This record gives sequence, C-alpha cells and structure tokens, in this order.
Amino acid sequence: MLKLTTPIYELHLHEIPRVAMKTALKLAEGVAASMSVANAQRVTIDDLIHYLPMRYEDRSNLARIRELQNGMWATIEVEVRIAGTYAVKGGKLRIFEISGTDGTGQVRAFWWNQAYLQNSFKQGRRVLLYGQWKRSRRGFFEVENPDYEFAADDDDADPIHTGRRVPIYRKLGEIRSKQLRSIMHHVVARLNSSEIEEVLPEEVLTRGKLIARAAALRNVHFPADDAPLDLYNRFASPAHQRLIFEEFFWLSLAMGLRRQGREQSPKGTVIEVNDRVRNAVRAVLPFKPTGAQKRVLAEIVKDMTSSKPMNRLLQGDVGSGKTIVAVQAAIVAVENGYQAAIMVPTEILAEQHSTNVKRMLAKTPYRVELLTGSLTAARKRQIHSDIESGEVDLVIGTHALIQEAVKFQKLGFVVVDEQHRFGVLQRAELIKRGYNPDVLVMTATPIPRSLVMSVYGDLDLSVIDEMPPGRKPIITRVRGEDSRRKMYQFLDQKIRGGGQVYIVYPLVEESEKLDLLNATQMAEHLQTSVFPNFRVGLIHGRMKQEEKDAVMDEFRKGATHILVSTTVIEVGVDVPNASIMIVEHAERFGLSQLHQLRGRVGRGDEQSYCILLAGDKRSTEARERLAIMEETNDGFKVAEKDLEIRGPGEVMGTRQSGVPAFRIGNVVRDYAILETAKREADHMLTARRNSRETARLVEIVREQPKYGLATVG
Ligand code: ADP
Ligand code: MG
Repeated sequence: MLKLTTPIYELHLHEIPRVAMKTALKLAEGVAASMSVANAQRVTIDDLIHYLPMRYEDRSNLARIRELQNGMWATIEVEVRIAGTYAVKGGKLRIFEISGTDGTGQVRAFWWNQAYLQNSFKQGRRVLLYGQWKRSRRGFFEVENPDYEFAADDDDADPIHTGRRVPIYRKLGEIRSKQLRSIMHHVVARLNSSEIEEVLPEEVLTRGKLIARAAALRNVHFPADDAPLDLYNRFASPAHQRLIFEEFFWLSLAMGLRRQGREQSPKGTVIEVNDRVRNAVRAVLPFKPTGAQKRVLAEIVKDMTSSKPMNRLLQGDVGSGKTIVAVQAAIVAVENGYQAAIMVPTEILAEQHSTNVKRMLAKTPYRVELLTGSLTAARKRQIHSDIESGEVDLVIGTHALIQEAVKFQKLGFVVVDEQHRFGVLQRAELIKRGYNPDVLVMTATPIPRSLVMSVYGDLDLSVIDEMPPGRKPIITRVRGEDSRRKMYQFLDQKIRGGGQVYIVYPLVEESEKLDLLNATQMAEHLQTSVFPNFRVGLIHGRMKQEEKDAVMDEFRKGATHILVSTTVIEVGVDVPNASIMIVEHAERFGLSQLHQLRGRVGRGDEQSYCILLAGDKRSTEARERLAIMEETNDGFKVAEKDLEIRGPGEVMGTRQSGVPAFRIGNVVRDYAILETAKREADHMLTARRNSRETARLVEIVREQPKYGLATVG
C-alpha cells in the first residue's frame, strides 16, 4: 500500500509503471536536491507530491486531422502507417519519422535523435500526438517533437499526456516532465483518499473556504476537465490556495510557538540602565547619532531591561550606521556585568569590526577579543579560557562562535550582523548550549515590515530609516563591454585625483575556480597592461587570513589604488576613501546583492560611482533589471523589485538560514493567504489554546525538524 510516508526510493515496490529501482532512486535524489535535503533516503511520497507543476496545458482539444489549421496546438489520434529513421547533416543528426492517419487525413510526425522510438512505433499501433501542427509544403500537416502516448488497449484507461489537461513539471534531476507526469499520475491514483488525512481543523477550513487536502493534492496535479486552467496557471486555483494556506499555517504556528516558548522562559539576565551606564554608552560615540540611531537604541535597551529575552531584527540600509548601535547596546550589557558577542559572516568582517570596535573602545576598560578560525591553537585556547573565566567582555567572531565549543561565563547579549540569511534558528542553537541571551539580528536587506512580521513572526523589528548626514547619492550606470576603454580612462583620472576603486567579480559556486581565475587574471592584466603606474591588489575567499588582512590593510591605508575581489567584500567592508565600484558580469548578481556591493562606496565626502558592466549578450530582461539600480539608491525599492523578480527564497537566502523555505507558497504573490494563515494560527494558539485541536496541531509542528521546535520551549 502506497502511503504518504513511503520513502521515494522504495517506489519501485509499488507497481508504478516504468518505475524500476534505478528510477525510484533518481527520483528520490531529484526531490532531495530540490528541497536542499542531503539525504535522499529521507524524502517521501509526501515530498514528491508537493513537487507541483510549474504550469498546465490544455491538451483536451482532441481534433480530427481534417479539422487542423496551420499553427494549431492539438492532440490527434492516429494509426501508425510507416515509421523509419534517416540521417541528415552528413550523418550528424538522425530523424525518426512516422506517418499516420485517422481516416480523415494523413499527418507526419518527426523527432530528432530519438531513433530508439522505432522500437515502439510499430505499424498499426494507435498513438496520441500532441504538439503544434504546421502545414508542410507538400500540403499535409506535420509536427516536430510531439508529446506522444500509445492509446491503451483497454478502452477504460485514460490517457495521461494527451487529450486532457496536463501538468508540466520542471525537470527533476534526471527525470523529465513527461516521465514525472506519468509517475505522478500513478502515485496519485494509488494514494487512497483515506491515506491523505485532513490535517487542518474543521473550523479553519470552513472560515477559509478551503477544500480538503486529498482533493487539493489530486487536483493540483491533474485538474478536472472543467477546471479553469488560468487559475491553475496563476497558482490561484482552490487546490493551490488550500496547499499554500496549509504551508503558511504550519510556519505561523511554529513561529507563534517559538515566541511563546521564548517569552515564557525568563532569561535570568538583569539589566539596569542608570547614569553610569548612560554615560558609558555616550562616551564611546565618535559622532552625533542620527535620530533613527537614537530611537532604535532606545527600543533595544527597553527589550534588554525587560524580563523576556530580546529577539529583535535591526534593519537598516547599507551605511546607515548599525554597528555603533550594536556596540552601544553591548556596552549596556557589559556595564551590567555580562559578556557580549558580535557574530559576522566572514573573517574579514570580523577582523574589521574588531579593529573598529577596539578603536572605539580604546579609552574604556573593556576587554575586546577577536576569535577566528585562523588564530593559532595556543592563542585560541588562551582566549577560550579568558572568555570562560569572564575576563573578556566582548567577543567578535564569525558565526562559528556559537557552533564551536566556546564557553561563556555570563553571556548576556548577542549580535548577529549582516544576516540577510536570517539567524532565526540561532537562538535554538544558543539555548542548546545553555544560554538565553538577548539577541539582536542585523540586516541590510530591507524586507517589507509586514513580511518580516508574518514570516519571521518571532522577531520584533527596528528600522534605521535615516542616513548619517552629508552622504551624496551614488551615481550608478549600466555599461557594456564597448565602454571598457572609456571606463579605464575615467578610473585613471579618478585615481590620479586620489580616489580608490573596487572591482568585483561574481563567484558562481559551480565554477568557483574559473571565477577565481578571472579575478586573478584580471588583477594581473590591470596591473601590467592597463594601470602600470598604480598598484592593484587582489583579495578572494581562498586566501589565508593573514594574506587577506595584509591586502585589506594596504587598501585601507591607500597603498593600493585598485582592489580586485570576488564577492568577499560584499558585506560590511568600510573604506571611506574608496569611491568607485565596478561590478563585472553584473547581470549574474541579484539586485539586493548589487545594492550591498554598491554600499561599499558612498561612505566619504567624494562623489561616488558604481558602474555595472553587463556582458554583451545581456538580455533585455537583465538590462531592465539592472536599470533599477540606476534609478534608485533606496534599498527598499531595490529589494521590492528583487522580490518580484526572484522571489523571497532567493532574496532572503532562507535556505541557508534554517528557516524552512516554502515549497509552494510565495510570500509576495500569496501575501493575502499568508496573513489569513497567520491569523488562524494565532487564533488556535490564543483563543483556542486549551483545545484538543490545538494540542494535536502543536504535536504535528513539533515533529517536523525543519521548524526547530524540538529543543525550544
Ligand atoms: P552599516 O549599517 O552598513 O553596518 P556602518 O555601521 O558600517 O553601517 O556605518 C557606516 C559608516 O557610517 C561608518 O563609517 C560609520 O562610522 C559612519 N556613521 C555611522 N553613524 C554615523 C553618524 N551618526 N554620523 C556620522 N557617521 C556615521
Ligand atoms: Mg555593517
């Protein structure tokens, strides 16, 4: 019996036509990869049937040959008359072709390089052909690479691929749309409706006018003959809405539970703010804070003095001055006798923060330490022991800080910086290690507030919506290869005038080596052939920490004029004198990422420039996308566009963060459903708190590892 919990790799045991062990395994691997799950043995039929069609086609238009018109998409049922293979282009390509008839006329169908088809297209067989029919020069209709299906011998079996509405799937690993359609068809047919239990409470279904789960999962793959396909193609069919709702509902429930758990576990830190603390916080300020900085600091400190642990997201565009706010909050904790930690994504950033923070706190008695993987073992041991004994007040390091076995004496405050990968699950990690500090997550990704509240429902939000005074808007231009010479002239002139330049290369994971080569070769080329009179530096992620430090140091001091880099400088790097940013292959970056990159300039008094070089073959779509960067310096506008174009998963990098990525829902497209789902989840957790239903729902959510609730609360 096929069940939702059946592992996909055992699918061949369930009499699915044409699914042998090898196919089952490939399928499992494909599903696992699509969900970013490492272990293909863990994915189940439930995961498989949540792999939805990307669109639907109406192939129910069963036509007779005599009714065909030029260019028409239709399914025709024919009897094979002649079939054969021949070579074209000097034998490089082979064409398999058939001719067939349905009594009203004759047609020709052909396929490229699929000679194996001759094994099945035997004379006399009846076959359904779907595709676009074109009138040939010889007068009869023909179709290229049609989808085909042999008419079943028994008349009861419905066709799967033709003569009906069919789902089109994105290729799943090695499994193509047609094969997947066949598999889905048989899987759905073998799943008893009673196997697909309803999981949502009756009242929620009624209020939301949602259809049953079993029906939704069936229809979403194979819409009924009279279903409006345009709704399906917009993911707005009742089947889609039901499944999207469910997905959002579980997440909202998980978020609500997490918040409840956190609010019910008192943190044990006692933070007071008196004049001494206030003076200490003020004393470290190197400049007059903006109104926004003051406001968010007050919000943060208010959380710290409350008995509930803080879980706050601090949002502020690149360069809005988040760092100083975090340092001030850290001082509040330290002045109250606690330790604080600042965690950043890269070692370069950790290094830079530590330099800055140490400088800011030079006149204070606080002990600040940098803890990174590249310290010597002895030095590391020393710092570990000083943290454990409480001698270190503020630790700065990479996110590995909480994963490694660093023991704190009295950890009271943690900053997670530059997370556009949200560190939502990091509290769970902390609690596992026995800490329950105040947590401040900082991000420059301006996700709309409403979205943060719904998707990251257990975070409170503070926004810095004001830039430090005196910033000039960066001038951004999109240019092609043909402008390279002019651009070099421009750089030459600017560097002579004392400016410094970043040149960034994208790092695409699959071809990391190649990109590295690009950056390396480019640096060499620039140094020897283009700018022999200036100094060109190179920095990339594969370098040793000391090397990176040395390169950054040279650049900061102004000893190098041009810094060629891979995206390691994306976040947080702060060299105010650098006023020009060149991005090579800009079309390969997401808009938000480009905005982050651009934020590296525009930090000093000079007018700053960002030049986005796009490959010559750039599509109009890419150009349009990049044009947004020319139009606005506002990170919110950029992010909105980015969300529209790429969807939230990509933009927020949720996959890496441990926040479950949505399988079906899209928080932008389905925002209204998200709001309803959140409202319903909150209702179950409050008004219906003590009901059996809620207990059952809570159990379901806790069992799902992706929500990370097992350890929390
Ligand atoms: P981000 O929010 O991107 O992390 P930073 O904290 O790195 O921004 O601040 C960007 C730059 O602005 C830094 O050089 C910082 O010293 C400066 N800065 C921050 N706040 C102010 C302010 N109120 N007045 C002047 N300069 C400021
Ligand atoms: Mg920063």
